[in-house]
Amino acid sequence: MPTNFQFKLSDYPKGFKRVIDARFPAFYGIEEISVPLYINRAKKDGPTIVVTSCIHGDEVNGLRVVMRLIDSKIKLEKGTLIAIPILNPYGVYNKSRYLPDRKDLNRHFPGNEKGSFASRLASFIMKNFGSIGDFYIDLHSGGTGRLNIPQIRYDFESQEVIKLLDEIRIPLVVDSQLRDGSFREALNKKGTPCLVFEGGEGLRVDKNVTNEGINLIRSVLYHFAMIKTPPPKPKLKKIFIKRSKWLRAPCSGFQINHFKLGKTVSKNQFIAEIRNAHGEIIKKIYSPDDGIILGMNKNPLIMTGDALYNLGFLNDDLDHKIEEEIFDWDDL
Ligand SMILES: [Zn+2]
Repeated sequence: MPTNFQFKLSDYPKGFKRVIDARFPAFYGIEEISVPLYINRAKKDGPTIVVTSCIHGDEVNGLRVVMRLIDSKIKLEKGTLIAIPILNPYGVYNKSRYLPDRKDLNRHFPGNEKGSFASRLASFIMKNFGSIGDFYIDLHSGGTGRLNIPQIRYDFESQEVIKLLDEIRIPLVVDSQLRDGSFREALNKKGTPCLVFEGGEGLRVDKNVTNEGINLIRSVLYHFAMIKTPPPKPKLKKIFIKRSKWLRAPCSGFQINHFKLGKTVSKNQFIAEIRNAHGEIIKKIYSPDDGIILGMNKNPLIMTGDALYNLGFLNDDLDHKIEEEIFDWDDL
Protein backbone atom coordinates (compact mmCIF):
# COMPACT_ATOMS: atom_id res chain seq x y z
CA MET A 1 0.00 0.00 0.00
CA PRO A 2 2.44 2.67 -1.16
CA THR A 3 1.84 6.19 -0.01
CA ASN A 4 4.16 8.48 1.86
CA PHE A 5 1.32 10.42 3.40
CA GLN A 6 1.56 10.75 7.16
CA PHE A 7 -0.76 13.01 9.04
CA LYS A 8 0.62 14.88 12.02
CA LEU A 9 -1.60 17.45 13.67
CA SER A 10 1.47 19.17 15.09
CA ASP A 11 2.46 20.13 11.50
CA TYR A 12 -0.43 22.61 11.51
CA PRO A 13 -0.08 25.65 13.75
CA LYS A 14 -2.77 26.95 16.06
CA GLY A 15 -5.12 29.20 14.13
CA PHE A 16 -4.75 27.06 10.96
CA LYS A 17 -8.06 26.76 9.13
CA ARG A 18 -8.12 25.21 5.69
CA VAL A 19 -8.96 22.16 3.60
CA ILE A 20 -5.79 20.28 2.72
CA ASP A 21 -5.21 17.15 0.65
CA ALA A 22 -4.69 13.82 2.35
CA ARG A 23 -3.12 11.36 -0.05
CA PHE A 24 -4.74 7.96 0.20
CA PRO A 25 -3.09 4.84 -1.27
CA ALA A 26 -2.98 4.41 -5.03
CA PHE A 27 -6.02 3.18 -6.94
CA TYR A 28 -5.07 0.30 -9.26
CA GLY A 29 -1.47 1.38 -8.74
CA ILE A 30 -1.97 4.40 -10.97
CA GLU A 31 -1.86 7.33 -8.63
CA GLU A 32 -2.55 8.27 -5.07
CA ILE A 33 -6.03 9.53 -4.37
CA SER A 34 -6.41 13.00 -2.99
CA VAL A 35 -8.96 13.20 -0.19
CA PRO A 36 -10.09 16.48 1.38
CA LEU A 37 -9.13 16.97 4.99
CA TYR A 38 -10.57 19.95 6.84
CA ILE A 39 -8.50 21.32 9.71
CA ASN A 40 -9.78 24.08 11.94
CA ARG A 41 -7.51 24.92 14.88
CA ALA A 42 -8.32 27.57 17.44
CA LYS A 43 -5.60 29.67 19.01
CA LYS A 44 -6.40 28.21 22.42
CA ASP A 45 -5.71 24.61 23.42
CA GLY A 46 -8.67 22.29 23.78
CA PRO A 47 -10.06 18.93 22.71
CA THR A 48 -9.84 17.56 19.18
CA ILE A 49 -13.13 16.51 17.60
CA VAL A 50 -12.95 14.37 14.47
CA VAL A 51 -15.84 14.02 12.02
CA THR A 52 -15.68 11.21 9.46
CA SER A 53 -18.00 10.03 6.71
CA CYS A 54 -18.27 7.85 3.60
CA ILE A 55 -16.66 4.79 5.17
CA HIS A 56 -19.42 3.36 3.02
CA GLY A 57 -18.94 4.99 -0.35
CA ASP A 58 -22.63 5.46 -1.20
CA GLU A 59 -23.55 7.23 2.06
CA VAL A 60 -23.16 10.71 0.68
CA ASN A 61 -25.27 12.65 3.20
CA GLY A 62 -22.18 12.74 5.41
CA LEU A 63 -20.14 14.29 2.60
CA ARG A 64 -22.76 17.03 2.28
CA VAL A 65 -22.75 17.56 6.07
CA VAL A 66 -19.00 18.18 5.98
CA MET A 67 -19.34 20.54 2.98
CA ARG A 68 -21.90 22.54 4.95
CA LEU A 69 -19.67 22.46 8.01
CA ILE A 70 -16.81 23.96 5.98
CA ASP A 71 -19.15 26.56 4.42
CA SER A 72 -20.36 27.60 7.85
CA LYS A 73 -16.89 29.02 8.63
CA ILE A 74 -17.27 27.88 12.20
CA LYS A 75 -15.26 29.92 14.69
CA LEU A 76 -13.70 27.83 17.41
CA GLU A 77 -13.04 29.23 20.86
CA LYS A 78 -10.56 26.49 21.60
CA GLY A 79 -9.38 23.09 20.44
CA THR A 80 -9.39 21.54 16.99
CA LEU A 81 -12.02 20.32 14.57
CA ILE A 82 -10.95 17.85 11.91
CA ALA A 83 -13.29 16.53 9.22
CA ILE A 84 -12.43 13.72 6.83
CA PRO A 85 -15.50 13.49 4.60
CA ILE A 86 -14.37 10.58 2.41
CA LEU A 87 -12.77 7.69 4.28
CA ASN A 88 -13.48 5.28 1.44
CA PRO A 89 -12.68 7.22 -1.77
CA TYR A 90 -12.64 3.99 -3.81
CA GLY A 91 -16.28 3.33 -2.87
CA VAL A 92 -17.25 6.94 -3.60
CA TYR A 93 -15.64 6.71 -7.07
CA ASN A 94 -17.71 3.60 -7.76
CA LYS A 95 -20.88 4.93 -6.03
CA SER A 96 -20.68 1.81 -3.93
CA ARG A 97 -20.84 0.97 -0.23
CA TYR A 98 -17.92 -1.40 -0.68
CA LEU A 99 -14.31 -1.34 -1.71
CA PRO A 100 -13.45 -2.48 -5.26
CA ASP A 101 -12.78 -5.98 -3.87
CA ARG A 102 -16.38 -6.11 -2.53
CA LYS A 103 -15.18 -5.87 1.05
CA ASP A 104 -16.84 -3.66 3.62
CA LEU A 105 -14.19 -1.29 5.00
CA ASN A 106 -16.20 -0.90 8.21
CA ARG A 107 -15.69 -4.57 9.06
CA HIS A 108 -11.89 -4.45 8.83
CA PHE A 109 -10.78 -2.12 11.60
CA PRO A 110 -8.29 -1.74 13.20
CA GLY A 111 -6.75 -3.35 10.13
CA ASN A 112 -3.44 -4.94 9.39
CA GLU A 113 -0.81 -3.46 7.13
CA LYS A 114 0.00 -6.89 5.73
CA GLY A 115 -3.65 -7.97 5.31
CA SER A 116 -6.21 -7.60 2.51
CA PHE A 117 -6.67 -4.25 0.76
CA ALA A 118 -9.55 -3.45 3.14
CA SER A 119 -7.43 -4.36 6.13
CA ARG A 120 -4.48 -2.29 4.90
CA LEU A 121 -6.70 0.71 4.25
CA ALA A 122 -8.24 0.38 7.73
CA SER A 123 -4.73 0.25 9.18
CA PHE A 124 -3.73 3.35 7.15
CA ILE A 125 -6.77 5.22 8.51
CA MET A 126 -6.14 4.14 12.10
CA LYS A 127 -2.46 5.04 11.91
CA ASN A 128 -3.10 8.51 10.52
CA PHE A 129 -6.38 9.51 12.10
CA GLY A 130 -7.25 6.99 14.84
CA SER A 131 -5.25 8.67 17.60
CA ILE A 132 -5.68 12.37 16.87
CA GLY A 133 -9.17 12.82 18.32
CA ASP A 134 -10.58 13.00 21.82
CA PHE A 135 -14.06 12.43 20.41
CA TYR A 136 -15.28 11.11 17.05
CA ILE A 137 -18.49 11.48 15.09
CA ASP A 138 -18.88 8.96 12.27
CA LEU A 139 -21.62 9.87 9.77
CA HIS A 140 -23.60 7.13 8.02
CA SER A 141 -26.90 6.68 6.20
CA GLY A 142 -28.99 3.76 5.01
CA GLY A 143 -27.71 1.91 1.97
CA THR A 144 -28.95 2.64 -1.52
CA GLY A 145 -32.74 2.16 -1.51
CA ARG A 146 -32.84 2.10 2.30
CA LEU A 147 -33.98 5.12 4.24
CA ASN A 148 -33.12 5.66 7.91
CA ILE A 149 -34.66 8.18 10.27
CA PRO A 150 -31.90 10.34 11.79
CA GLN A 151 -30.65 8.51 14.86
CA ILE A 152 -27.62 8.23 17.11
CA ARG A 153 -25.95 4.93 17.74
CA TYR A 154 -23.62 4.43 20.60
CA ASP A 155 -22.70 2.02 23.33
CA PHE A 156 -19.91 3.88 25.03
CA GLU A 157 -20.93 3.95 28.67
CA SER A 158 -19.53 7.12 30.11
CA GLN A 159 -21.30 9.82 32.10
CA GLU A 160 -19.95 12.45 29.75
CA VAL A 161 -21.41 10.76 26.65
CA ILE A 162 -24.76 10.26 28.37
CA LYS A 163 -24.86 13.94 29.37
CA LEU A 164 -23.92 14.89 25.82
CA LEU A 165 -26.72 12.73 24.37
CA ASP A 166 -29.21 14.79 26.37
CA GLU A 167 -28.04 17.94 24.63
CA ILE A 168 -28.37 16.59 21.09
CA ARG A 169 -31.54 17.50 19.22
CA ILE A 170 -32.02 14.10 17.59
CA PRO A 171 -34.46 12.27 19.88
CA LEU A 172 -33.71 8.70 18.85
CA VAL A 173 -30.78 6.89 20.40
CA VAL A 174 -30.32 3.33 19.31
CA ASP A 175 -28.26 1.26 21.67
CA SER A 176 -26.49 -0.78 19.05
CA GLN A 177 -24.02 -3.55 19.60
CA LEU A 178 -20.58 -2.81 18.28
CA ARG A 179 -20.05 -4.26 14.87
CA ASP A 180 -16.98 -6.40 14.67
CA GLY A 181 -14.33 -4.56 12.75
CA SER A 182 -16.06 -1.18 12.72
CA PHE A 183 -14.18 2.10 13.03
CA ARG A 184 -16.27 2.86 16.13
CA GLU A 185 -15.27 -0.44 17.75
CA ALA A 186 -11.58 0.18 17.05
CA LEU A 187 -11.83 3.66 18.59
CA ASN A 188 -13.82 2.44 21.60
CA LYS A 189 -11.19 -0.23 22.27
CA LYS A 190 -8.64 2.55 22.55
CA GLY A 191 -10.92 4.28 25.07
CA THR A 192 -12.03 6.99 22.63
CA PRO A 193 -15.76 7.68 22.36
CA CYS A 194 -17.40 7.70 18.94
CA LEU A 195 -21.00 8.55 18.16
CA VAL A 196 -22.39 7.09 14.97
CA PHE A 197 -25.01 9.16 13.15
CA GLU A 198 -27.39 7.30 10.85
CA GLY A 199 -29.76 9.22 8.63
CA GLY A 200 -31.18 9.24 5.14
CA GLU A 201 -30.55 7.04 2.17
CA GLY A 202 -27.56 5.97 0.09
CA LEU A 203 -26.74 8.08 -3.01
CA ARG A 204 -29.24 10.73 -1.95
CA VAL A 205 -28.81 13.96 -0.06
CA ASP A 206 -31.62 15.15 2.13
CA LYS A 207 -31.70 18.58 3.76
CA ASN A 208 -33.52 17.40 6.90
CA VAL A 209 -30.86 14.78 7.41
CA THR A 210 -27.92 17.07 6.79
CA ASN A 211 -29.50 19.65 9.15
CA GLU A 212 -29.51 17.01 11.89
CA GLY A 213 -25.91 16.06 11.08
CA ILE A 214 -24.83 19.69 11.43
CA ASN A 215 -26.82 20.08 14.66
CA LEU A 216 -25.14 16.99 16.04
CA ILE A 217 -21.64 18.33 15.31
CA ARG A 218 -22.55 21.72 16.77
CA SER A 219 -23.94 20.02 19.90
CA VAL A 220 -20.66 18.20 20.43
CA LEU A 221 -18.61 21.38 19.88
CA TYR A 222 -20.87 23.31 22.27
CA HIS A 223 -20.67 20.54 24.85
CA PHE A 224 -16.89 20.88 24.87
CA ALA A 225 -17.19 24.70 25.03
CA MET A 226 -15.54 25.00 21.61
CA ILE A 227 -18.25 27.27 20.16
CA LYS A 228 -20.25 30.05 21.79
CA THR A 229 -23.60 29.75 20.04
CA PRO A 230 -25.68 26.83 21.20
CA PRO A 231 -27.32 24.59 18.58
CA PRO A 232 -31.14 24.26 18.55
CA LYS A 233 -32.37 22.78 21.81
CA PRO A 234 -33.74 19.24 21.97
CA LYS A 235 -37.53 19.34 21.77
CA LEU A 236 -38.02 16.01 23.44
CA LYS A 237 -36.57 13.65 25.94
CA LYS A 238 -34.39 10.99 24.42
CA ILE A 239 -35.99 7.77 23.32
CA PHE A 240 -33.58 4.92 23.88
CA ILE A 241 -34.17 1.97 21.61
CA LYS A 242 -32.64 -1.12 23.12
CA ARG A 243 -33.70 -3.60 20.49
CA SER A 244 -34.49 -3.41 16.80
CA LYS A 245 -35.28 -5.89 14.07
CA TRP A 246 -35.70 -5.93 10.29
CA LEU A 247 -39.08 -7.17 9.06
CA ARG A 248 -38.53 -9.21 5.92
CA ALA A 249 -40.73 -9.78 2.89
CA PRO A 250 -42.69 -13.06 3.15
CA CYS A 251 -42.98 -13.20 -0.66
CA SER A 252 -41.74 -11.35 -3.72
CA GLY A 253 -43.78 -8.69 -5.50
CA PHE A 254 -44.44 -4.96 -5.58
CA GLN A 255 -44.43 -3.29 -2.18
CA ILE A 256 -46.85 -0.48 -1.42
CA ASN A 257 -45.98 1.23 1.81
CA HIS A 258 -48.76 2.45 4.08
CA PHE A 259 -46.66 3.75 6.86
CA LYS A 260 -44.45 6.71 7.57
CA LEU A 261 -40.87 6.64 8.63
CA GLY A 262 -40.35 7.72 12.23
CA LYS A 263 -43.94 7.13 13.32
CA THR A 264 -44.89 4.79 16.11
CA VAL A 265 -46.66 1.63 15.08
CA SER A 266 -48.84 -0.70 17.16
CA LYS A 267 -48.80 -4.45 17.27
CA ASN A 268 -50.85 -5.91 14.39
CA GLN A 269 -51.12 -2.52 12.65
CA PHE A 270 -51.37 -2.73 8.86
CA ILE A 271 -48.21 -1.20 7.40
CA ALA A 272 -47.78 -2.42 3.83
CA GLU A 273 -49.14 -4.58 1.07
CA ILE A 274 -47.42 -6.66 -1.55
CA ARG A 275 -49.06 -6.91 -4.96
CA ASN A 276 -48.28 -8.93 -8.03
CA ALA A 277 -47.71 -7.30 -11.42
CA HIS A 278 -51.45 -7.55 -12.19
CA GLY A 279 -52.16 -5.34 -9.22
CA GLU A 280 -53.67 -8.03 -7.02
CA ILE A 281 -52.83 -7.96 -3.33
CA ILE A 282 -50.96 -11.12 -2.47
CA LYS A 283 -49.91 -10.29 1.07
CA LYS A 284 -50.65 -7.71 3.72
CA ILE A 285 -47.90 -6.86 6.18
CA TYR A 286 -48.73 -6.16 9.83
CA SER A 287 -46.39 -4.95 12.53
CA PRO A 288 -45.40 -7.80 14.86
CA ASP A 289 -45.08 -5.46 17.83
CA ASP A 290 -45.27 -1.90 19.14
CA GLY A 291 -42.39 0.14 17.88
CA ILE A 292 -40.98 2.92 15.75
CA ILE A 293 -40.07 2.56 12.11
CA LEU A 294 -36.36 3.41 12.18
CA GLY A 295 -35.62 2.52 8.58
CA MET A 296 -37.44 1.33 5.50
CA ASN A 297 -36.96 -0.09 2.05
CA LYS A 298 -37.59 2.41 -0.77
CA ASN A 299 -37.42 0.06 -3.72
CA PRO A 300 -40.89 -1.38 -4.44
CA LEU A 301 -39.57 -4.39 -6.35
CA ILE A 302 -38.93 -6.93 -3.65
CA MET A 303 -37.80 -10.49 -3.38
CA THR A 304 -38.74 -12.94 -0.66
CA GLY A 305 -36.63 -12.19 2.39
CA ASP A 306 -35.80 -8.61 1.45
CA ALA A 307 -35.62 -6.26 4.43
CA LEU A 308 -38.71 -4.03 4.41
CA TYR A 309 -38.79 -2.16 7.72
CA ASN A 310 -36.38 -1.71 10.56
CA LEU A 311 -38.57 -1.72 13.63
CA GLY A 312 -37.24 -0.29 16.89
CA PHE A 313 -39.00 -1.76 19.89
CA LEU A 314 -40.35 0.73 22.40
CA ASN A 315 -40.21 0.43 26.15
CA ASP A 316 -43.58 -0.36 27.70
CA ASP A 317 -43.67 2.85 29.68
CA LEU A 318 -43.51 5.11 26.62
CA ASP A 319 -46.58 7.20 25.97
CA HIS A 320 -47.31 6.39 22.34
CA LYS A 321 -49.89 9.15 21.97
CA ILE A 322 -47.23 11.75 22.60
CA GLU A 323 -44.49 10.03 20.71
CA GLU A 324 -46.43 9.43 17.53
CA GLU A 325 -46.39 13.15 16.80
CA ILE A 326 -42.63 13.44 17.17
CA PHE A 327 -41.31 12.53 13.81
CA ASP A 328 -42.55 14.30 10.78
CA TRP A 329 -40.26 13.19 8.04
CA ASP A 330 -42.71 12.85 5.16
CA ASP A 331 -40.45 14.71 2.83
CA LEU A 332 -37.44 12.53 3.45
ZN1 LIG B 1 -22.62 3.15 6.74
